[in-house]
Amino acid sequence: MNYLLNTYSRFDVEFIRGENATLWDKNRNEYIDFTSGIGVVSVGHGNIRLSNAICDQARNIIHISNLYRIQPQEELAEILVKKSGIDGGVFFCNSGAEANETALKIARKYGEVNGEIKRYKVITLENSFHGRTISTLKATGQPKFHTYFGPFPDGFDYAKDIKDISNKIDDKTIAVMIELIQGEGGVNPFDKEDIQNLAKFLKEKDILLIVDEVQTGIYRTGEFLASNLYEITPDIVTLAKGLGGGVPIGAVITSLTDVLKPGDHGSTFGGNYLSTRAGIEVIKILDEYYESGMLKEIINYFDSKLVEIAKEFPNLFDNVSGFGLMRALKTHKSEIRDEIVKKAFEEKVLVLKAGNNAVRFLPPLTITKEEINEGFDRLKSAIFKIEGKQCEN
Ligand SMILES: *Cc1c(COP(=O)(O)O)cnc(C)c1O
Repeated sequence: MNYLLNTYSRFDVEFIRGENATLWDKNRNEYIDFTSGIGVVSVGHGNIRLSNAICDQARNIIHISNLYRIQPQEELAEILVKKSGIDGGVFFCNSGAEANETALKIARKYGEVNGEIKRYKVITLENSFHGRTISTLKATGQPKFHTYFGPFPDGFDYAKDIKDISNKIDDKTIAVMIELIQGEGGVNPFDKEDIQNLAKFLKEKDILLIVDEVQTGIYRTGEFLASNLYEITPDIVTLAKGLGGGVPIGAVITSLTDVLKPGDHGSTFGGNYLSTRAGIEVIKILDEYYESGMLKEIINYFDSKLVEIAKEFPNLFDNVSGFGLMRALKTHKSEIRDEIVKKAFEEKVLVLKAGNNAVRFLPPLTITKEEINEGFDRLKSAIFKIEGKQCEN
């Protein structure tokens, strides 16, 4: 670890094996994983179908560059277009930030070549998170991310909430970029009617709606896209986290198919055989899981456990939030949240932090009831330990 840059404060544990939502460290301790690698390992650890697909592909061709046709890339693009309901095309890259960069470039070029004056401004929301590159950091509406690294690119402005967006729009505005459920910001879903009104308003104004589904996409909220759940059709949707089941991949789906021309944008690795083959298999697995009703059933089960724990400890929790398997327990104070995440780790259940006061849950979508039971039992033990300590005070 001495040779790594100090960009993460890590738990001192080394996992060496995983099976669905269960992990083992090198001392054979067993953990329940309610994080799925921050919403990435959507079909669970050690998934046989996914690993077979990856191995088969790796034995043949891993990478050939975008100078030649790539069959699984074309196939995954068709799947994404058909399932998203966005009548258009797909660009593949390697991460969420890159997908959002691509979306910004599409919007900026669209604003440059359409209309009398050049439009370039992008409105995002306070408390949003859009990535770690210089411009996606600037798009992220949290001042703490803008302390260093400047000067940032111009042309970003932040609205307080969905209703405030119209106040920020002027004749230079080309796009609005939002998450439908803010993830890193604390698992905050927006109101469906507000979102639908916004989509309609933007359409009338010929302002693009970019929905960042890097976290919410690929069945995380119970539907293929959160946009499906909210019943909107954005101009651009970005994807990454859950799409490759752990293989790095990002994607941009857009109806604006004639904006980018050869030479405008690219990615060496983007859409290679390995990552797109993984994406196809992940979606196949999750489609079956969704259509069988199993996803819905496990979401309801997880929800009941979450609600139960919030009710049992009203002195710690305000409420539960989120949709599908993108959920949170909101604590009264950030100190309680930090304590719970730490104690949960000691009890061998992995949970995440988000925002100021959210204990966040992003389990594999294929998590079993047994794993959920075990995870919540351990979470309760962790909470009892904190409660015990509070009683002593
Ligand atoms: C994680 C995340 C990103 C950044 O994705 P990376 O793959 O880390 O670049 C962007 N937007 C949202 C909503 C995210 O949750």
